[in-house]
Amino acid sequence: MIEEGKVAFNAEGAFYNPKMKLNRDISLSVVRALGISEYLDALAASGVRGMRVAKETHAEKVILNDVSRTACALIQENLKLNHIGNCEVCCSNANVLLHQRRFQTVDLDPFGSPAPFLAAGARSASSYLFITATDTAPLCGAHLKSGIRKYMAVPVKTEYHREMGARILLGAVARELARIDKSMVPFLTFVVDHYVRIFVEVRRGAGLADKTLENIGYLEHCTNCGSWKSRLGMNCKSCNKCTNCGGKTRVAGPLWLGAIQNRDLIDLALKELISVAGNTDREFRLLHLCRDEIDEPMYRDHHKLCKSLGVTPGPIDGVIGALISEGWNASRTHFSGVGIKTNAPLEALQGVLHRA
Ligand code: SAH
Repeated sequence: MIEEGKVAFNAEGAFYNPKMKLNRDISLSVVRALGISEYLDALAASGVRGMRVAKETHAEKVILNDVSRTACALIQENLKLNHIGNCEVCCSNANVLLHQRRFQTVDLDPFGSPAPFLAAGARSASSYLFITATDTAPLCGAHLKSGIRKYMAVPVKTEYHREMGARILLGAVARELARIDKSMVPFLTFVVDHYVRIFVEVRRGAGLADKTLENIGYLEHCTNCGSWKSRLGMNCKSCNKCTNCGGKTRVAGPLWLGAIQNRDLIDLALKELISVAGNTDREFRLLHLCRDEIDEPMYRDHHKLCKSLGVTPGPIDGVIGALISEGWNASRTHFSGVGIKTNAPLEALQGVLHRA
């Protein structure tokens, strides 16, 4: 018997990853913060995720689906074990179910790539779509061809590859939604351990979908000086030359260049996390970092930059403070403990590091 949060369950014969507890705990805080009423766990396995939503949030209706008969039988047993009555169990291919029915909140948490479920998930979700992707190598640029096949975008492997992965996935989801005249607003995004997790609000409307696509664009990264420029729009114009040093650039995209965190919603999730059974300091730290990240794509690696300048890295908060006192916007990032997000150009940041 396994215990997680307020449920005790059996996972024999089904997939269960205890390392994903952080993912589930934070998802519960989000479900509670948004006051979600209907929730589909589209790839439920043991049912742990959906059962926790049923037991630890105010959701009125929870649907647990898995294509495997063994998994569904296990879910039924686990529901009984936990005296959970407000759940429906479906034994369908997730893509069939998602095309047949609409759900207020759709959670896609496969083991592997969510790519095969994005089109159906985008169609089914009426208000919220939550997605986990464990295929970080294709998303972040380590497996280039697989990334292109799955997400129809070109990732570039850089020092900010974790954020690259999150934005490639967000871009793919935005395009899936736009195809069926739906828009999205991401409100919490994180990459931890070896997975990407995104939370987006979905709305109908061609006009809103057009607005969503205004956040799609490309990122031009200079392989010589390490600076980058983002270019909004589906039309990629590039002469593959860095405007900073004249070096050769590589272009990543199409990807999401809009906001990925919503301060107010994450604040609400933080308040709800207090009541999530088994919450951890790491979960609070992660949400605090996500909440306080500035709305600026990508980040610089403090240590790498210092190394290239031949200076010893001082405290990162000192660098961020110095940037802010010079009038720039700057923050830490959850993507990397040595990452600095800023709207300052590379030379300004280098200047601060030299003076530090
Ligand atoms: N979300 C779970 C883990 C899911 S593991 C958790 O938090 O613990 C992936 C599950 O997806 C497996 O149980 C597998 O049987 C199921 N699955 C794979 N392909 C599927 C499909 N096309 N439709 C529905 N379920 C599927």
